[in-house]
Amino acid sequence: MPSRYHRQEILPGVGPEGQARLASSHAAVVGLGALGCAIADHLARAGVGTLTLIDRDLVDHTNLQRQCLYTEADASEGLPKAEAARRRLAAVNSQITLHAHIADLTARNADALLTPDHARHPDILLDGTDNFETRYLLNDLAVRDGVPLVYGGVVATRGMQMTIRPGAGPCLRCLFEEPPAPGSQPTCDTAGVLGPVVAIVAACQAADALRCLLGQADRIPPTLLEFDIWAGHRRRVDIGGARREDCPCCGLRRFDFLAGAAGSEVLGLCGQRAVQVSPGAGSVDLAALAARLATVGPVDARPFMVRFSVPGEQGEDGGCLSLTVFRDGRAIVTGTGRPERARSLYARFVGA
Ligand SMILES: [Zn+2]
Repeated sequence: MPSRYHRQEILPGVGPEGQARLASSHAAVVGLGALGCAIADHLARAGVGTLTLIDRDLVDHTNLQRQCLYTEADASEGLPKAEAARRRLAAVNSQITLHAHIADLTARNADALLTPDHARHPDILLDGTDNFETRYLLNDLAVRDGVPLVYGGVVATRGMQMTIRPGAGPCLRCLFEEPPAPGSQPTCDTAGVLGPVVAIVAACQAADALRCLLGQADRIPPTLLEFDIWAGHRRRVDIGGARREDCPCCGLRRFDFLAGAAGSEVLGLCGQRAVQVSPGAGSVDLAALAARLATVGPVDARPFMVRFSVPGEQGEDGGCLSLTVFRDGRAIVTGTGRPERARSLYARFVGA
C-alpha cells in the first residue's frame, strides 16, 4: 500500500526525505478562525508532525459559513475552538501530535504556550489572528527567535498574505511600524467576510509554510500578495528592499510587544460582570465607529462615547453583552467577567 502522503511525496521538492522532514517539524497556528482552520487542516493532512493550536474563543454558529474545522454540534455545545479543532484534526490524521491551548496569546504566556518544554521553538509561526496586537506580538517572537512568520489577513472580499523571514527580508514593523489605531479598520464582524477569499489566503499561507519546513524558504519570493476576489484583482507588491536598519524590531531588536511596552491592558472591574480593555495608544473616531456598528446592531452614540449591544450573543449571566467605547479607545465590556472574551469582542467589533 502506498504511503498516505504518496501524492505529495511524488512532487519534485518533497520526496521521502521531504516527507520525513515535515514529520519532524513543529508549526504553531495562532488563531483558529477562518484562516487558522484552513491552515491547520492543510498542515495536518500534509503530515507536519507537531501542531500547536492556540485560540481564545468558542465556536459560534456564525463561524460555520467559513471556519472549515467546525460543525453544527461544536457550535451548539459552544466548544472552545482549540478543542474542537484538536478533535477534528486528530480524526483527520492520527499520526501527528497536537497541542491545543484554549488561551489568549499574550506577552506573558507566549513562551510557555509555544515552547512548553523550553527545548525548541516552533519551526514556523502561522498568523490566523483577528487582531493587530497579537500579530505584532507574533512579529516580535519571530524576529527574536529567528523563526519565519506567515502573515495573512482577510476582511470582506479582500485578503493579504506575506511570509516574514527574519534576517532575509523585512519584518511587519519594517513595513507598518505601528499597528493601526483602534477602531480605524473594518473587521469581519462589521464588514463581513467571504469564504473563498479565506481559502485563497490560507492556501498561500499553508504553501509557504510547507516550503519553509521543507528547507526551501529562500525560494519564496519577497512579495506581499493582495487579492480582491469579488473585484477579480490580484496584485504582487515587491517588498525585497523594504527591510529597514532603523526598524524598532528587526533593526534595533527592541521587542516592544513582547516587553508589554505596547499593546492593550485588560482589567476586570471589581464586583461587576464587566471588563475594561485599554489599548496602548491612539484615539477613536467615534462617529465613524458608530456608523460601522449601526449596520450590525443597536448603537447609542453620544459625543463622548458609543455604546453597542452585541446582537445574538449572551453574557455569562444570560443578559445582554455590550461595549461602551470612549474616544481614547478604552472600552468597558459588560456582560462578561472573562478578560479573553472582552479582548475578543473588542477585536471583533472595534478592531485592535
Ligand atoms: Zn523590521
